[in-house]
Amino acid sequence: MVNSPVKIVVVYQSLLGIYGDRGNAMVLTKRLSLRGIDAEMVMVEPGEPVPTDGAVYLLGGGEDLAQVAAVNAMRADGGIFHALDMGAVLFAVCAGYQIVGNSFTVGDKDETIEGLGLVDATTTRGTVRAVGEILTHWTSPDGVDVLLSGFENHGGYTTLGPSARPLAHVELGIGNCGDGTEGAVQGHVVGSYPHGPNLARNPQFADWLLETALDRRLGPLPDEQLNQELATLREQRIAVVRHSKNLAEDTRWLGARP
Ligand code: GLN
Repeated sequence: MVNSPVKIVVVYQSLLGIYGDRGNAMVLTKRLSLRGIDAEMVMVEPGEPVPTDGAVYLLGGGEDLAQVAAVNAMRADGGIFHALDMGAVLFAVCAGYQIVGNSFTVGDKDETIEGLGLVDATTTRGTVRAVGEILTHWTSPDGVDVLLSGFENHGGYTTLGPSARPLAHVELGIGNCGDGTEGAVQGHVVGSYPHGPNLARNPQFADWLLETALDRRLGPLPDEQLNQELATLREQRIAVVRHSKNLAEDTRWLGARP
């Protein structure tokens, strides 16, 4: 059973907050309150107990050392494991995604750090840093092919094991490791690389996270004009991604000149 107000919990913003991923929590909270559902954003920092009565938990991106501190603090706290046992959803972006996997590497010496083991995924340093706009295809619960757009910036490449399934398939960008997949889903844990913040750019995907946590369908926002405006912004954003990628292709020869 989900408590009221519905809690959207941002875990360790001070460690995993350099990419504006906190915006994901703002989007989720707002999309609930616009539907008349009482919702609140809860911020929790290392040293404070991670509440166990949240509906959705969010982890963001961060530097290598910050993510090591975050994984240690989360493991020592243990609250996230209890929350997931009670049906909560965890949406983890970039460094957060790497943290929820089995292991990831950091630093010049590629030291292996144990993850939380919530997703069957392993991250090691990739051949080239994945930086730039990314466009993927995600299949909604209704079987609709939905384009997701965002900005990726990660040196780690992630490989999924058999217990995790890819969240989406890459049209433009690198994604998990250049194998055509992006992100991972395992139970109620969802990992993904794109920032943006991700959920501001992808409202249908944001609603799916909420629906999974609340265990019910939500339908569109009651404000039809707002739905239209968000849809237009989304289309524009996708066009920008496609344009920027084409531009990168068209001008690649410039970098190859002596
Ligand atoms: N430090 C990680 C990497 O470079 C995560 C980066 C991020 O969160 N954007 O792979």
